[in-house]
Amino acid sequence: MDLSYILNDLGEEREQYFDAIAPPIMQSSNFDCRTVAQARKMIANEFSTSLYTRGTNPTVKMLNAKIAALEGTEAALTVSSGATAMALPILANVNQGDHIICIKKPYFWTEIFLTQWLPRFGVTCTFVDGTKASNFENAIQPNTKVIVLESPNSFTFELQDLTAVSEIAKRHQIVTVIDNSYSSPLFMQPAKFGIDIVVHSATKYIGGHSDVVAGTIAGSDVMMRKIFHSEYMTLGAIIGPFDAWLLIRGLRTLDVRMERVAASTQYIVEKLVGHPKLKQLIYPTHPSHPQYTLAQQQMKKGGGLFTVALNTDSIEKVEQFCDELKSFRIAVSWGGHEALIMPACVKFPSQEEAQASSAFNLVRFYIGLESPDYLLDNILTGLEKL
Ligand SMILES: *Cc1c(COP(=O)(O)O)cnc(C)c1O
Repeated sequence: MDLSYILNDLGEEREQYFDAIAPPIMQSSNFDCRTVAQARKMIANEFSTSLYTRGTNPTVKMLNAKIAALEGTEAALTVSSGATAMALPILANVNQGDHIICIKKPYFWTEIFLTQWLPRFGVTCTFVDGTKASNFENAIQPNTKVIVLESPNSFTFELQDLTAVSEIAKRHQIVTVIDNSYSSPLFMQPAKFGIDIVVHSATKYIGGHSDVVAGTIAGSDVMMRKIFHSEYMTLGAIIGPFDAWLLIRGLRTLDVRMERVAASTQYIVEKLVGHPKLKQLIYPTHPSHPQYTLAQQQMKKGGGLFTVALNTDSIEKVEQFCDELKSFRIAVSWGGHEALIMPACVKFPSQEEAQASSAFNLVRFYIGLESPDYLLDNILTGLEKL
C-alpha cells in the first residue's frame, strides 16, 4: 500500500461527514443501536463496531487502520501511553507461573513492569544480552511464553537480529513483542522479519509535536482481538477521540518529519564523529556502530537519537556543557519538533553517585526539525568550551 495513501486517505470516510478533509473528532462515549436486533449484533462485535468508546470509537478506529497499514500487520490498537502499549500484549500472553525473556536495558518502565509488577503474579523474567540471538535460545525455559525486544533501545542503541530471534521464538511457540519507537513505523517494520507484536510510544514520532501521550500495538487480527477482549476492554486504558485526532494529524507529516530528522541527524553525526572532546559517539546507522551491518539490513534509516561520551572526567563539566547548550531543551521524551538533550547523570540521586558510575559522561541528543547547522554550531561551541 502506498505510504501517501495511508497517511492521507486510508480509513477516512469523508462522504459520511460533509466531505471534510480533516476528520471529525467523534467526541461521543456511546452510539445509538436503533433496534434491539441491531444492539445484539453490535454487542457481539465490539471489536469492529462503534458501540461504546472504551471499545471502538470511529476516530480511534481510523487511526488504528493507518497504524496497521504502516506496520504491515492485519490490525492495530491505540492505547493511553507507550508504557501501556508494552504492558498489554505481554499481559495478554502470560499466566501465573510463566516466564519471559527480555533484552538487557529495555525502556525504564518496561523494566519496572517486568521486574516489580509481574513477579507479584508469579511471572518471572530473564534479561539477556540481545546482541547475540543464541542468548535468547539459551534462556528459554519450558514455561517461556513471551520474548520482549527493543531494537535499538533508546539510550545506547544495541540491536537484535529480528529474523534470527523470531525464528527461535516460532520454533518454541513463544510470542515476540518489540518496542519499535526508535525507528517509527517508517524506518523499520519488524513484522516483516516475523515479529508478532509491534509497539510504539506514539508520544514520540507518531504524535511528533510534544503534545500527546499515547501508544500503539500492531499485530495479527487474532492477536489484536485477543488483547481487545481481555486487557484492552477490562483495563480500559484507551485514548480519547481528541488524542486520536491529534495523532492522525501527526501522521499527515510523519514522512517529511522523519526524512528531515534522519538527514539532519546523519549530517550532525558525521560532523561530530572523531571530535577530540568526544570519547565515543553511538549512532546505529553510522559505520562506527558495532552492529552497523545488521542496522543496515533491518532499518531503512537512523532516527534522531544519538548518544555521546564526553571526553572529561568531571561531572561538573558534563553538567556545564548541558546547561550551556541553549538550542537544546533539557527534557525527557523525544520525537517532537524540538531538539533535546538528556544526560545519563540525572538518573543518579546525587552528583557523587553519578560520578562513580561509568555512564556519568553520557549525553543523549535528539535532533528535531530545526536547521541542522543551528544545532551543530551550538554543539561545537559547547564542545570547545568543555
Ligand atoms: C517513551 C518511551 C516509552 C513509553 O512511552 P510513553 O508514551 O511515555 O508511555 C516506551 N519505549 C520507549 C523506547 C520510549 O522512548
